[in-house]
Amino acid sequence: MLAQGPKVKELEEAFCQFCGVKYAVALTSGTAAIHAGLSALGIREEDEVITSPFTFVATANPILMLGGKVVFADIAEGDYNIDPQKVKEKITNKTKAIIPVDLYGQIFNYQIMNALAKEHNLKILEDACQSIGAEQNGLKAGNFGDAAAFSLYATKNIMSGEGGILATNDEEVAENCRRFRHHGQSAQYEYVELGYNYRMTDLCAAIGVEQLKKVDIFNGRRIKNAGLLSAGLSGIKGLVLPKINQNNKHVFHQYTIRLTDEFKGSREELMAYLKSKDIGSGVYYPKPLHLHPHFMKLGYKAGDFPIAEKSSKQVLSLPVHASLSESEINQIIQAIQAYVK
Ligand SMILES: *Cc1c(COP(=O)(O)O)cnc(C)c1O
Repeated sequence: MLAQGPKVKELEEAFCQFCGVKYAVALTSGTAAIHAGLSALGIREEDEVITSPFTFVATANPILMLGGKVVFADIAEGDYNIDPQKVKEKITNKTKAIIPVDLYGQIFNYQIMNALAKEHNLKILEDACQSIGAEQNGLKAGNFGDAAAFSLYATKNIMSGEGGILATNDEEVAENCRRFRHHGQSAQYEYVELGYNYRMTDLCAAIGVEQLKKVDIFNGRRIKNAGLLSAGLSGIKGLVLPKINQNNKHVFHQYTIRLTDEFKGSREELMAYLKSKDIGSGVYYPKPLHLHPHFMKLGYKAGDFPIAEKSSKQVLSLPVHASLSESEINQIIQAIQAYVK
């Protein structure tokens, strides 16, 4: 069986066990998981969905795929996740859902957001694509909304080449997603609605099953690397370390520092310096979504989301992945310390 078969089922069952969710539906990508999840939560044409402008484009595009309207709300300064206060200001009588993103490996501010959703009768789709294994109050990512989307893309904390999982505790949502990934079929050659070919292959699932066995080891190494980096980089003027919110287990998909005006030199200069020392670094994300032509068409403009705009100019992600050695981590710390001297 090369297409969706027993290995996919095995991955889904293992995923339910790991995350502590009732249902998991494997799909071709995290994007497909968000698309299927939003559809299953009832998003249709003209519906407004609120999300962060400081994320990967795949968080927002599925809203457009369903004919909905992308409504951005600014992020909070500390953890770069969407700010519940800003979300509140964007709620209208057309708002149907919120997509908070567990950015960089840390779960969003769940308590305030879910109270808000309850008050206004909104659905929450948790974009957990960067956060498999993250926890808040002992509960794992995947449990903080009506449904959650995970990605198994090559660079995520665990991967299957390409792949995605939709996790939910709602049987009807799960059933909807299973139809959505398989041409809207309720039974073989019975089509009840529009669907897609979003089936994961057993080839990918076989990789995913083995990766999932190692997720705690991989995340443990990322957390350890992040701790070493934060210890080594503390006290540098103008360098803001990643903030771990109370009661959170951050799994450091990215280790992201912020360089304020007080930092010696520009971000681009530091990146070039690190590169000259054979140290890679990246900017996630160099431009918030609302400043791309694709979304400016919707009427957004510079100045709309000041924290996201400022963050995009100041953030810098350093290597934190599970294969780094302690001596490599020390090289990164020493290089930055040498740079600021
Ligand atoms: C990776 C990612 C996605 C999309 O996942 P794919 O598997 O690449 O389609 C969506 N949202 C966020 C925040 C991501 O990091």
